[in-house]
Amino acid sequence: MNDTLIQESNHILLNEIQASGIRLEDVTDLTVRKGGAGPTDHKAITIFNTTVMIPVLSHAAESSPFTATRPTKMGLASLKKDGKILTTIRFIKEPKFYKEKSSDGTPFWKIARLHSKDVLATTVLQTCIRYKNKETSCQFCAIEESLKHETTIAYKRPQQLAEVAKCAVELDGISQFIMTTGTPASSDRGAKILFESVKAVAEAVNIPIQVQCEPPDTFDWFLKLKNAGASSIGMHLEAVTNRVRNKIMPGKASVSLDFYFKAFRAAVEIFGKGNVSTYILAGLGDTEDEILLMCDKLVDIGVYPFVVPFVPVRNTPLENHSAPSKDFMHKILDPLALSLVNAGMTSETLESGCAKCGACSTLSAFEKKHSA
Ligand code: SF4
Repeated sequence: MNDTLIQESNHILLNEIQASGIRLEDVTDLTVRKGGAGPTDHKAITIFNTTVMIPVLSHAAESSPFTATRPTKMGLASLKKDGKILTTIRFIKEPKFYKEKSSDGTPFWKIARLHSKDVLATTVLQTCIRYKNKETSCQFCAIEESLKHETTIAYKRPQQLAEVAKCAVELDGISQFIMTTGTPASSDRGAKILFESVKAVAEAVNIPIQVQCEPPDTFDWFLKLKNAGASSIGMHLEAVTNRVRNKIMPGKASVSLDFYFKAFRAAVEIFGKGNVSTYILAGLGDTEDEILLMCDKLVDIGVYPFVVPFVPVRNTPLENHSAPSKDFMHKILDPLALSLVNAGMTSETLESGCAKCGACSTLSAFEKKHSA
């Protein structure tokens, strides 16, 4: 470890690495996702005993000061900054379940993927009513890209999800299952598909399940999802002001912030404080103050704001958009973590979901700092 690293606390450096990405010598393996929803173009890497999703294919990663040597058979590599070795890192290995298939012959890795080190994640419906039309699509999203690459299937049937979950638990000790979905052309906005999926998975395995969708038309869905076996729900704002929502996600912005808040309140009544969360992408144009103000409102009603650095994804309209700076992220994550600790609602207290996993943001590392 060099002097600079010793002086910087690890979570600040992690924050910088996650914002900048890492240049790798080899990014051809299945552990790097190309396209799709969630942390695409990333790789799961353990740095300072924390597993984080690090951009490795983005434009920012191409010019990142951070590089990693080719990993050993054990997955170990040296992480360098500007050519100087900082520390040893570990690449998360390909899970065993990727080698198996469902009873209909579909490779499991096309049905669900390993996120971080022990999270199973899937996009149940890989298409979205908002995606094909520029007037409505979210400009950061690559949900249908992985379909074009044939690295996934358009719809994962409940039986397929139950089979992959069982196998991933048995072979790889998966700790939770996160199910997101593209938005279908129905007013339940994906809740029905998630309900059927959760029901089948919960009958096959006993692990926490998070569902993620847009707020459905009627909030009865929350109780149905909970009774089917979901332990938490994510309804993702992505951007917090109408200025940015209208510009970056014009289709999704037609669902008002007011309606999101009605849905959040109804969901907290069913799932409990903290087990309702929302993804906020920092770096899309909302200011630090605007994001923190929104986070205050969310924390007040028991919703966990999972703030992650926006990472521009290839083949999206925002592929050349810059990633947020480490200072921008620090100004948000540090006070937010303190308010989450004060509210008794931290990554550790949650049942399931992205905020529980925490690999796409260094927010939980800041929480640990404030809890110490
Ligand atoms: S935080 Fe969510 S999206 Fe990110 S790696 Fe974890 S489960 Fe996947």
